[in-house]
Amino acid sequence: MASGPASAFTGPDAPDLDALRKCVHCGICLPQCPTYHVLGEEMDSPRGRLYLMRAAAEGRIALTETLGQHVDRCLGCRACETACPSGVPFGQLLEATRAQIERHGTPAHRGLLTSFLYRVFPNPARLGTLLGPLRLYQRSGLRRLVRVSGVLRLFPRLAAMEAMLPDLPRGVELPELTGARGTRRGRVGLLTGCVQRHLYPHVNRDTVRLLSVAGYDVVVPRGQGCCGALALHAGRLEEFRGQASALAASLGGEVDWIVTNAAGCGSAMKEYGHWLPDVPAAQALAARTRDVSELLAGAHLPLGRLDATVTYHDACHLAHGQRIRTQPRDLLRRIPGLKLVELMDSDLCCGSAGVYNVLEPGMADALLERKVARILESGASIVASGNPGCLLQIQKGLRARGAAIEVVHPVDLLARALTERA
Ligand code: SF4
Ligand code: SF4
Repeated sequence: MASGPASAFTGPDAPDLDALRKCVHCGICLPQCPTYHVLGEEMDSPRGRLYLMRAAAEGRIALTETLGQHVDRCLGCRACETACPSGVPFGQLLEATRAQIERHGTPAHRGLLTSFLYRVFPNPARLGTLLGPLRLYQRSGLRRLVRVSGVLRLFPRLAAMEAMLPDLPRGVELPELTGARGTRRGRVGLLTGCVQRHLYPHVNRDTVRLLSVAGYDVVVPRGQGCCGALALHAGRLEEFRGQASALAASLGGEVDWIVTNAAGCGSAMKEYGHWLPDVPAAQALAARTRDVSELLAGAHLPLGRLDATVTYHDACHLAHGQRIRTQPRDLLRRIPGLKLVELMDSDLCCGSAGVYNVLEPGMADALLERKVARILESGASIVASGNPGCLLQIQKGLRARGAAIEVVHPVDLLARALTERA
């Protein structure tokens, strides 16, 4: 019997052909896809990308540059997964395809900047070292000079990074153990994250405080590294597995839950079971990972008045990656005086998507423009979102429009409203 053409995918991590064949080309996912929204191109829709992946899996096409471009342009937001009635696991298929391109193809993003991003961002120590000189850049007046000179226009990706950088805060040292208050509900380990720890350290501090008031002993293990989310979404599976195994070893102590306040991290950690089936510690970590809103939703919090009109942006890796939508909203509604107004297209990606906004600044800006327009229409004076990447991206967009709207993590507002002081 003649055998068919050889698949362009090889190895144990090759995208699952059965999963690819689940797509019945119905197109229900198309209106939910941010890149399809912007470009209107079939090959930049979930259905088009799945068609390309399946053609490569069945050996009908090779891992061409064109295929790579359509795959690269995908945000990995997984809105298509939420919409899909056939249960196509788009996120895992995308990550597996990116791993194949990384290994055998010609990834568009294999330049100096990409190597730099993947060396620095998923490493809290390196990121901290880099931020020292950047703090000086911001405070010495050099930033103003660079911006006025317009020199960054020559380097659009660098300009995208520079525009995103908020005023860098001072670090916050968290105690290794914070005891529970009131009725004890359990013991949790906190992931401090890479970006969160350096750019939004108060979010970690507020998370500890809220969890403690909610009745949890909070352990912050020293020496914890990156969860590997960035590497996973880029298909750098070896790197990802190394980071995930190390994290499982450092966070996997005697705790009931492992808590994260970063949607991207939580989503990746909950996927450890799929990607590291032979590492029991990683499996255990995946099963015990919870977003902070999931734990706080079931706890009593003594909340005082906070008069504000707030809108909520669904981070993709909370809404689509973890199916968490109601808990953050319900928590915000529990704050007396706080009026929560719905944001139109709240779960449409803001264009952040890890380092996507640096690697694909054109598409990221187009999506950010839409997001900012919706936020301005909402009439809110504060926008809340549970992912540091979204906070950075939305802050950048609102700053560019000169809008005086605060951008915060939901735990920030809950901590402001807490009546019980530390
Ligand atoms: S992950 Fe997001 S950007 Fe990619 S195909 Fe799905 S909906 Fe579109
Ligand atoms: S991914 Fe799902 S929703 Fe999209 S075309 Fe395929 S079957 Fe339909």
